[in-house]
Amino acid sequence: MRLKKAERKQVRLKYGGHCAYCGVLLGDRWHADHPEPVIRVSDERVAEQAKDHNLDNMMPACAPCNISKGRQTLEG
Ligand SMILES: [Zn+2]
Repeated sequence: MRLKKAERKQVRLKYGGHCAYCGVLLGDRWHADHPEPVIRVSDERVAEQAKDHNLDNMMPACAPCNISKGRQTLEG
């Protein structure tokens, strides 16, 4: 999922520029993680609301947290 620069900034500021998972101060490299599954909608107006809703659900995550989340099945 691609975010506009302003949207990324908004997500990052939700946690004061820190990772939502470990609290480390985020540098230039961080990921916008969304724990909630993306809802598919056909109606355009609902889709617009869902987009805002998605941004609400976005969590700023540092690279190690983002990677370790993806590796959970491998490393238990
Ligand atoms: Zn982290």
